[in-house]
Amino acid sequence: MDNHAADIGLIGLGTMGANLALNIAENGFRVAVHNRTVEKIEGFMHDAGPLTSQLVACDTVEELIRAIKPPRAVILMVPAGPVVDEYIATLRALMDDDDIVIDAGNANFQDTNRRAASGAPFLGIGVSGGEEGARFGPSIMGGGRKVHWDRVAPILQAIAADYQGTPCATWMGEGGAGHAVKTVHNGIEYADMQMIAEAYGIMRDGMGLQPAQIGAVFEGWNTGALKSYLMEISATVSKAVDPQTNAPVLDIILDRAGQKGTGRWTAIEAQHLGVPATVIEAAVAARNLSSRLEMRIKGESLFGAAPQRLADGQLTIDTLGNALIAGKIMCYTQGFELLAALSAAHNWTLPMPEIAKVWREGCIIRSTMLNDMANALSESPDANLMFSDFFARLMRETQTDLRQTVSLAAQSGLPAPALSAGLSYFDMMRTGQSTANLIQAQRDFFGAHGFERRDAEGAHHGPWGSN
Ligand code: NDP
Repeated sequence: MDNHAADIGLIGLGTMGANLALNIAENGFRVAVHNRTVEKIEGFMHDAGPLTSQLVACDTVEELIRAIKPPRAVILMVPAGPVVDEYIATLRALMDDDDIVIDAGNANFQDTNRRAASGAPFLGIGVSGGEEGARFGPSIMGGGRKVHWDRVAPILQAIAADYQGTPCATWMGEGGAGHAVKTVHNGIEYADMQMIAEAYGIMRDGMGLQPAQIGAVFEGWNTGALKSYLMEISATVSKAVDPQTNAPVLDIILDRAGQKGTGRWTAIEAQHLGVPATVIEAAVAARNLSSRLEMRIKGESLFGAAPQRLADGQLTIDTLGNALIAGKIMCYTQGFELLAALSAAHNWTLPMPEIAKVWREGCIIRSTMLNDMANALSESPDANLMFSDFFARLMRETQTDLRQTVSLAAQSGLPAPALSAGLSYFDMMRTGQSTANLIQAQRDFFGAHGFERRDAEGAHHGPWGSN
């Protein structure tokens, strides 16, 4: 065999692609690499150090294809959208019929469904974990035909994060299933980040704590039920000091958050499918609102700044921590409900416990609670997470703290949209008699839509004309 024969190809040596290629090489596989800007390939090879011997630099896509052992597999790690379609067209013209194209970027899963429908071997895999994850072990959510997944699974499982001996690389289903799971992952990520940011705001503006003190609280929370990567990095960034000014780094960062759109996709899908993903929607809206900096400043000069200090002892750190636990349960309950709806709508059989498992390590939302979720979903995969024994008990223990936190925040003008959305969802989910009877009466009044009666079958109309 040609000693240049690579096990797999990778196109796109940006942040993610370069690190993924090194990870694959380090795990003993030979990788052929290509990048649009050819000069970057040389720099990449130079920086690869001892791993260079596992890498085959290819200046053209044609060279890349020649360098890979058939049947081939080529990973694309480029921006989602038309670039992926262009590369697929280029690759397919050069590849054999059974060669696989793998889109490992953050594609919209509807695009992945479309690309998979062409029939040519294609996998859409969601990769989470950022730069560090790509290099040392990401969480991988695979989609496409199982036979194609099985062909590349040894490589993907070798490079993935490992949770107590189990690789975090799982096949989720046909077509866009992997990218759909990654999309919901990112929606949950938005919500998890937003709720931690709300707790930060309550401590900063409601309790008057300094960033380093807040960092210490996050550190404390990171030893219990809230232990997670996002809590860990929140502690680190809260304690960091700017070397130029000696000020806390948090105090010099502009309060305007960016986004690439995956949270929005999650909210849009939830709306399409009629699934209440209100915690995620609130988080997406909060990012949108954060970007309206000038308008917020104008609002502050018009109405005065909202946040008021809480009285000493009015809200304890423990209560706030429990509120985050309850909010997190609501967020994941909604996320798994959305996954179940996506599964039904696209004829997938998304493996709920396996999704919780694949998120336990490597990805941005990795947390201790995900192991509890994996256990709860293994016991009853179709159940609403908040109704499982474990999380129902945890909600009973923490819901009053969520209520106290949200109500004190509201009274003090401390914005807590995601935590509030979680509380409203909880309250609606345990309301046997809602107010939708009035909505039905209104709908029947203006649109003759009819309503169901409590005491009789069928559709009925109200006596509106006679009153
Ligand atoms: P980068 O911007 O770092 O790299 C982009 C890569 O795509 C580069 O190799 C670039 O080549 C190439 N590229 C860009 N535009 C074109 C084009 N028009 N034609 C050909 N090649 C092009 O991106 P990332 O590595 O951060 O992201 C890659 C993918 O991974 C994206 O889909 C992203 O959403 C996803 N992702 C990113 C994560 C992250 O934390 N950054 C996490 C998980 C997924 P060139 O050098 O020539 O510009």
